[in-house]
Amino acid sequence: MKPELKRVWVLGAGQLGAMLKHAAQPLGIDLRPVDIELDANLPLEPDDVITAEREQWPSTKATDQLAAHPNFVNQDVFGLVADRVSQKQLLDRLNLATAPWQLVEHADTAASLHAQYGERVLLKQRSGGFDGRGQHWLVENQSSAIPDGWHHKVIAEQAIAFDEEVSVVGVRNAAGECHYYPLALNRHQDGILTVTLAPLARLQNLQNEAESMLGKVMHELEYVGVMAMELFRVGERLLINELAPRVHNSGHWTQAGASISQFEYHVRATADLPLAPAIIKHNSVMINLIGIDYNLAWLALPGAEVFWYGKEVRAVRKVGHINFCMADKAQLVNSLRQLQSTLTDWYQPALDWAISELER
Ligand code: ATP
Ligand code: MG
Repeated sequence: MKPELKRVWVLGAGQLGAMLKHAAQPLGIDLRPVDIELDANLPLEPDDVITAEREQWPSTKATDQLAAHPNFVNQDVFGLVADRVSQKQLLDRLNLATAPWQLVEHADTAASLHAQYGERVLLKQRSGGFDGRGQHWLVENQSSAIPDGWHHKVIAEQAIAFDEEVSVVGVRNAAGECHYYPLALNRHQDGILTVTLAPLARLQNLQNEAESMLGKVMHELEYVGVMAMELFRVGERLLINELAPRVHNSGHWTQAGASISQFEYHVRATADLPLAPAIIKHNSVMINLIGIDYNLAWLALPGAEVFWYGKEVRAVRKVGHINFCMADKAQLVNSLRQLQSTLTDWYQPALDWAISELER
């Protein structure tokens, strides 16, 4: 006899929705991503569950209907996390370290912000930014100014001279059970995630702290599903950069590198299926495909698991990713070198970096 499985609707039909659907299928879960532009009524049932692949959406017939459903998981969390002010206030309240910050008030000037935070200050839009968009650096002595119309719409953050960027992805179910993946090491180029590596033995000493930071947030919000926390490592300290109340790009490696991927965890938690500890396999590397045409040569690389999102290729747009998970580091490096030769100049430093991290 088949158990009663919930039907899951996802607000948003981008690549994250598609990968949630892909993960739901072997579980026997009917998961339906919904385009946020869809202006039609959906056949929602009272027992259905609603989740989201994004923090914000326009109001349409379909999105209003989904957002108003009583089983919309984490309904109150999206607004809170989508505004950097309330997100930072939450972290402050929980005594979790972040970059020193403030809302840019009408009276603030570049000079007042430099006086408060020092030579370099990063302005970030309160909401709607991604892949480094909607951000602006103020650099003292370069006659920088707060752009017109940005007052009250941005926060100012002190520049953090971090050693590297890492992230922790975890899952929590309605009963409060949590599981975490090992810290991932992330490299951004031009503000966009380019490569993720996990797990790394040298980050193990920070694992407990990262789990406790993310756990505090998830418990405080009574969160259900997968959440990601982006962190700066400064020496032996971790500072939170930002939270993502959803599956996250820096967790894509788990599709190859863990017995349960972040997408499957999110489906399991939202549909209230049992969780289990995910078993981590080998060395994993995820390379984002950014503004680049599909190259069939990738399919010929040993170990490559290619995800092509089927989106129109545009500059600085994520159009796919490639995962590798291999026990033999030398073989992995060999595949990365072959991959490197198929990629543009823009990628060369990122791939050199990944190889040097693996050989470290
Ligand atoms: P995402 O694509 O993850 O949604 P985002 O556009 O929302 O990114 P952030 O993650 O806040 O923005 O910032 C993008 C990148 O800018 C970070 O990954 C980091 O490299 C850099 N950055 C952000 N805040 C700071 C800071 N306070 N000091 C130094 N660098 C920073
Ligand atoms: Mg970020």
